[in-house]
Amino acid sequence: MEKTVIEIRPQGYCGGVLKAIQMAKETRKKYPKEKITVLGNLVHNQYVKKALELLEIQTIENSQKTRLELLDEVNTGVVIFTAHGVSTRVKEKAFEKGLICVDASCPFVLQTQKVVKEKLDEGFEIFYIGKNKHPEAEAIYSTSEKVHLIQKIEDIPTGITSPVFVTNQTTMSIMDIKTIFDAIAQSYPDALFHDEICNATRVRQQAILDLKNQEIDALVVVGDPSSNNTRKLAQIGSQSNINLVVSAESVEQIHLEDFKGATRIAITSGASTPTYLTQQIIAYLKDPSNKQKIRIEELL
Ligand code: SF4
Repeated sequence: MEKTVIEIRPQGYCGGVLKAIQMAKETRKKYPKEKITVLGNLVHNQYVKKALELLEIQTIENSQKTRLELLDEVNTGVVIFTAHGVSTRVKEKAFEKGLICVDASCPFVLQTQKVVKEKLDEGFEIFYIGKNKHPEAEAIYSTSEKVHLIQKIEDIPTGITSPVFVTNQTTMSIMDIKTIFDAIAQSYPDALFHDEICNATRVRQQAILDLKNQEIDALVVVGDPSSNNTRKLAQIGSQSNINLVVSAESVEQIHLEDFKGATRIAITSGASTPTYLTQQIIAYLKDPSNKQKIRIEELL
């Protein structure tokens, strides 16, 4: 049965990811002989990490360690801070170690950090909705005991008497944030709310919600499982009652038998997913004889 593949717009790299990858490439040109280390994954995609290795840019990652702890493993050369941002303490420590620092933090992440700092200085307690141990969240909740991480409604602190400022990680689900904001407003009617979901995340999620009248049989979400915004796209697809939601990192994880009976397949990808990988999946879904090998050098 012939399949119609509907490419959802927008999808793929956001401005912050594009900028981070560009900065890494320029860093190699500027420091051709230096050891270059990325402190964590530059963006959450394993293929991008492999592509950077072709430029001899190494990534150190350990989900059990904070960025500050990871920095103990970097002693020379250039260190690149990832698109997710780092705390001021990480920057200070890298400087004290004499490392050349390149900050590829996304401007929207820096904006959230700035707002949180301002509100802490004004005496607010911060309710920060985010994911535990995610580097973007960690850079914020590690800065002060007055930042309370909220992952679900049950985490909302009780008995806070100081003024409350509520904000969030940039890549959360627009549906989850609304639910948690509403719950906080019940307990803290005077709280100040500042939704920091970035535009790239918002429009990619909204584009899935907008599919509802298009009789879609299946949704493919392309991206790395470590990418928060990618996982949220899949979650929103499931919450939108699309019968079949398939998450895949690349064409290697696409099994055509999963799509038996599906004639209209929508496809989207996370903000850190190379378009090249998505296009390979589209080509394969349209024509099963067209399964291409992944060429990492195409990502640079
Ligand atoms: S998803 Fe949003 S916050 Fe993250 S890098 Fe892209 S634009 Fe920046």
